[in-house]
Amino acid sequence: MTAPQTPSRPQLSIILPSYNEAEGIAKVVKELLHPTLQKLFNESDETSTPYEVLIVDDGSKDETFAQAQALAAELPWVRGLRFSRNFGKEAAIYAGLEAAKGEAVLVMDSDGQHPPEVIEQMWAIWKTNQFDIISGVKQDRSVDSLFGRAASGMFYGVMKQLTKIDLHGHSDFKMMRDTVVREYLAQPERMRFFRALIPWLGFRQANVPFIVAERVAGTSRWSLMGLARLALTAVTSFTGAPLYWSAYIGAFGLLASFLLALQAFYSWCVGIAVPGWTSLTFLNLFFGSTILLSLGLIGVYVHQIFEEVKGRKPFIVAESTEQPLPPPQTPPNSQTP
Ligand code: UDP
Ligand code: MG
Repeated sequence: MTAPQTPSRPQLSIILPSYNEAEGIAKVVKELLHPTLQKLFNESDETSTPYEVLIVDDGSKDETFAQAQALAAELPWVRGLRFSRNFGKEAAIYAGLEAAKGEAVLVMDSDGQHPPEVIEQMWAIWKTNQFDIISGVKQDRSVDSLFGRAASGMFYGVMKQLTKIDLHGHSDFKMMRDTVVREYLAQPERMRFFRALIPWLGFRQANVPFIVAERVAGTSRWSLMGLARLALTAVTSFTGAPLYWSAYIGAFGLLASFLLALQAFYSWCVGIAVPGWTSLTFLNLFFGSTILLSLGLIGVYVHQIFEEVKGRKPFIVAESTEQPLPPPQTPPNSQTP
């Protein structure tokens, strides 16, 4: 018998950003991921698995981390991190990428909406060694509401117009080479949009179509405001075009008001000045809202700069399955009255 080898680097790391997923996470890991991984790696020896699964608990309010701990105790290839609070999915992905050890790293949702059979297709493409980024692209969004589909269609349309990056159907379901992950982590920006920043890095990219599955449990963790904020971060971190557009609209408005002023002056001179209530109200509303919109846009950019300049950590890890919190202790000389 040969001596046991030192654990080598995993071939594949799977990152599962998770927020309040206690109900379904064990099912996703055990019933969806495990059989797929066993099939891919033809594994019978559970002690030297060539893969790892990293659950990043994004400050859940439920028992997600307890579930991760139980899974890690049972399955040696599962690890878990717990954030000190909810920092958002982008931060959870970032933390997962930072902690992943694999040669290939896969990011996928922890709610079962990213089907495991797509991992098999991605792995087959990865094995050809011709691609560095393999993205899952949604073919069918029938599980999303009509409003959700319309809103995301509009967002991606605007994004494509403004940034020339076409993200229609794109998701965070991506497999990447470790060099891509290193480049992603090396970018200094804090406010990130993973699904656009990865394609922006370049490298050799392939797409795999997939059909979004139903959630294993629960409902979407995104609020409307959360999605709106993500959309604004996405656009403003990739282009300054909205700032230019508000400047163009301002310039156009100035020209139009100059012409109107000329007309008003002429009307006054020839004595046919009309009361002008309607046009004044219209102008007031138009320019008022344009100014507010432009100010808002500038505010968003200023906020982006402010966040980047502050340079705070994008997330804080409270504990991990490898380094759990010490159990609570009663102080030796506690002098409670
Ligand atoms: N998620 C997260 N932090 C958050 C919100 C969501 O880590 O603040 C995770 C969530 O647990 C899931 C994934 O991101 O694994 C996608 O979230 P969700 O299913 O709510 O989004 P949807 O599928 O509706 O786009
Ligand atoms: Mg989901």
